[in-house]
Amino acid sequence: MATKLKEVDAVMVGMGWTGSIMARELTKAGLTVVGLERGGDIKPSEHFAMPAVRDELRFSRRLELIQDPAMETLTFRHRPSESALPMRRFGSFLPGDGVGGAGNHWGGHTWRYLPTDHATRSHIVQRYGAKAIPADMPIQDWAMSYDELEPYYDKFEKLCGVAGKAGNLRGRKIDGGNVFEGPRQSEFPTPPLEQNLSGLMFAETARELGYHPFPRPSSNCSRPYTNIEGLTLGACQLCGYCDRNGCEANAKAGPHVCVLPRLREDAKFEMRTRSWVSRLVYDKAAKKVTGVVYTDTRSGEEYEQPAGIVVLSAYVFGNVSLLLHSGIGEQYDPATQRGTVGKNYCYQLSRMGVTMFFEDRNFNPFMGAPGTQMVIDDFDADNFDHGSLGFLGGAIITCGHGDGRPISYRPTPAGTPRWGSAWKKATARWYQHALNISLSGSNYANRHNYLDLDPTYKDQLGRPLLRMTYNFVDNDYKLSEYCMSKAVQIAKTMKPTILGEPRLRRGDYDIVPYQSTHNTGGTIQGTDPKSSVVNRYLQAWDAHNLFIMGASTFPQQVAYNPTGPLGAMTYRSRAARLPHRSADQGQRQPHALRGRPGSEGRRRHDRVPEDPQVAGHLRIRTTAADYPPGSYAGSLRPAPISPAGSTARSSRPCRRRKGAGSRSPRRRGRARFRSARAPSARHRRIRPRPTCDSRR
Ligand SMILES: Cc1cc2nc3c(=O)[nH]c(=O)nc-3n(C[C@H](O)[C@H](O)[C@H](O)COP(=O)(O)OP(=O)(O)OC[C@H]3O[C@@H](n4cnc5c(N)ncnc54)[C@H](O)[C@@H]3O)c2cc1C
Ligand code: SF4
Repeated sequence: MATKLKEVDAVMVGMGWTGSIMARELTKAGLTVVGLERGGDIKPSEHFAMPAVRDELRFSRRLELIQDPAMETLTFRHRPSESALPMRRFGSFLPGDGVGGAGNHWGGHTWRYLPTDHATRSHIVQRYGAKAIPADMPIQDWAMSYDELEPYYDKFEKLCGVAGKAGNLRGRKIDGGNVFEGPRQSEFPTPPLEQNLSGLMFAETARELGYHPFPRPSSNCSRPYTNIEGLTLGACQLCGYCDRNGCEANAKAGPHVCVLPRLREDAKFEMRTRSWVSRLVYDKAAKKVTGVVYTDTRSGEEYEQPAGIVVLSAYVFGNVSLLLHSGIGEQYDPATQRGTVGKNYCYQLSRMGVTMFFEDRNFNPFMGAPGTQMVIDDFDADNFDHGSLGFLGGAIITCGHGDGRPISYRPTPAGTPRWGSAWKKATARWYQHALNISLSGSNYANRHNYLDLDPTYKDQLGRPLLRMTYNFVDNDYKLSEYCMSKAVQIAKTMKPTILGEPRLRRGDYDIVPYQSTHNTGGTIQGTDPKSSVVNRYLQAWDAHNLFIMGASTFPQQVAYNPTGPLGAMTYRSRAARLPHRSADQGQRQPHALRGRPGSEGRRRHDRVPEDPQVAGHLRIRTTAADYPPGSYAGSLRPAPISPAGSTARSSRPCRRRKGAGSRSPRRRGRARFRSARAPSARHRRIRPRPTCDSRR
């Protein structure tokens, strides 16, 4: 039996980028907010300090900041006819864990999606006709246009101090920026990082060929910058250890640098780490959620946290699995194409490229950042004519050294042995002289790619694992072939000493090598509850006080990285724009969701969505007195370790923290807040369920 805690205004499930931004916005609006995070607390001053932070073995190979698959993982299969097996080690993508989520170890590339990316279906139909979209490709428009999201893209960029150069300023095209981007109201907050030799060589050749190179927009600040929260980011040191690592210079934007310092000092906010949400409490008849149930993974104790608003900010996989575990929405069925939860799971076409070797050039590949790259967008999305090509979508083509780390970066020409002294000699010979042109391609939805619950395998709480059914399809192979031909054209024009074999997207999807953590879909947005899970405010059709954040709401995936739009959408979401509590009375003003569109005094963007299904009424508490500071801690009672058969159904019970029962409830709450990230060995004490090795 879960211990029922005192109700709060809002609860966040997951404290990565989306959970942190939303919590901050809600506390600013006067709400009491609890942030529940499955992982431990991460403190940049401890975890990302020099020299330990520059440890490729620890972070890139042993994946210290990544979700522990022994606790919860996914099962995988290529097609519905196969049985899925659990992923025992994450490879192809690396979901985050702990406060800050994947925002701790992301690279920082920060894009705005193109106006046509926001209206993919209608744009294709308008330009090529309805027949251009194959029947098995359930492409959908986003529920919000680029223009609607533009102010929030701007806000997120100003939170992160994104370094870049505008290519379209209020409709004026600017050479040197991305001329294909939608009109932006303001320049990037910081100028682009200085490019290194490789990016400059690529840009010069691309320009000669008539393309439009520009520096990759990136949240690696090019100079010290004070963001919209009044927090200061440092200047990037071009350290070469960015993605998969934290940043010792506070130059890479992330929740810890950009939002959390403000949130942590706010008495209306409480962070609870090691708090693993197992389900949402759902009142189907009333179409609302009343809270969440979570397990403290240190003690094994289970709690119910009632809340007026629940925000799912648990990344794609957490969002989808929690809906399914809670019976919210209808599971998508690829046979009938009915149901919406799990639908349109998409990924990205990565690990494509061509490597060149220049005998007479020294690139110093160890020095750089994700932002020291030049890009062309000429073959992305629908920036080129697809009329006779037989595929939809496109790829960005990029070049520039950013992370020539000693273990993973060992480029050698074709024919070099893969180990032994000849390999060692070749890596030493070519390390300084290799240059890669990379492609990242869009991945449009296919009816057979989806997420559901696995019938066989379970996580440490005894819940079915999320099952991924996914593979590349013809559209992906053709896209890869075409865009690669353009990359090879550029590579040949650069006249390398040796030109490597192009690495195309061929064969089945492989879950082992890293590709990108740009998983999307599963709780997609739309304007019709029959084909989407959330509306244009990311509010669930099936529970009016449930908001779902992140890339799980993208209807399909484009060639860019996803964090720009998911940050922007979090700001735009309805939950983030509740009216502020009036300072003099400590009372909340009438709730925006209670009114009708056009009510007096309401701002335009606070209007209730037109659909009657979502003109619901959030019941949230109205006075500050309802939630005295420390109310959660005050409500905690020392409880015995869960007995066998309780909800903590690991084969060995989770260990209880030493001395927990002897502390006062309030001190326990504080200790929980202070607790540092526990070593992952603690997790390993909980014996994993039998799994099959996903490595083949
Ligand atoms: C190596 C790497 C490089 C990347 N580089 C880029 C890049 O350059 N540009 C870009 O745009 N994107 C990049 N990404 C992706 C980017 O990190 C994500 O898009 C972004 O962090 C997602 O934010 P989020 O808040 O949706 O999810 P997350 O940051 O993943 O946060 C979700 C949080 O929820 C917690 N959680 C999950 N389930 C539960 C539960 N049941 N109970 C409680 N807590 C739970 C998790 O522990 C996690 O902390 C990269 C990702 C990786 C891994
Ligand atoms: S490359 Fe720059 S932003 Fe990235 S970790 Fe190093 S110093 Fe920080």
